[in-house]
Amino acid sequence: MPKAEKTSDVIEARAEFGLEWLIGGLIALAIGVVLWIYRGEGTLIGLSLLLLIGGGGATAYGTYILVKAKNVPSVDVVCSYCQKVNKLTATPEEGFLCSFCHRRVPVRDGRPLPVFQVRCGYCNELNYYNETTEILICESCDHEIPIAQEEGRPKKHLPRGFVAQEDPNLYDLVLVEANPKHEGQIGALQHMLALNRNQVKEIMASTPAVLLTGITRKKAEMLQAQLAVHDARAEIRPTQG
Ligand SMILES: [Zn+2]
Ligand SMILES: [Zn+2]
Repeated sequence: MPKAEKTSDVIEARAEFGLEWLIGGLIALAIGVVLWIYRGEGTLIGLSLLLLIGGGGATAYGTYILVKAKNVPSVDVVCSYCQKVNKLTATPEEGFLCSFCHRRVPVRDGRPLPVFQVRCGYCNELNYYNETTEILICESCDHEIPIAQEEGRPKKHLPRGFVAQEDPNLYDLVLVEANPKHEGQIGALQHMLALNRNQVKEIMASTPAVLLTGITRKKAEMLQAQLAVHDARAEIRPTQG
């Protein structure tokens, strides 16, 4: 079975090939005609005829290739990521690059495998995996994202050391500077703490106030940055005992 290629690529390559023959043939024909006109005493007749016959043949061959160029087998394969239809010359036997989203589409038994979405727990980036994925590394922050595969498959993990080491200590996020009249701050805190407006305003009025306790350094830094966007200041302190 031939390797699956993009149908448009194959058509393009064939058309280019046909065009070269066509142009070469036309040039030979033109020179042949000129030589025929200036054949004089007949010394150039042989060469002229040769060019006319050869040029005619090449022109016909190039035209034939061009006409046939579009007759390339085409199989519609839907990309698992963007759902767009890729036209390939054959059923793919292995993964292929989608022409639209440029992701490698996983293939098994000639069919694209469905892909699943998962958000990275560290940076919230959307990542994709399929049933053949054993280890998923976040495209954006290189952390390993745990994925739940079907039952019975041994769960593989990266060797220690490849995964960026986490700070194992726990931290508190303490609000030290806030403006209870600032809508952006209120909204951010409501979202972060899942509290209502009044509860949030109460906390904002009584700084320094512990917002969260026993969270990882990474999470604390992320939330601190979210608050900083709205000009609220929070400190990260080690969780006591
Ligand atoms: Zn795609
Ligand atoms: Zn990430």
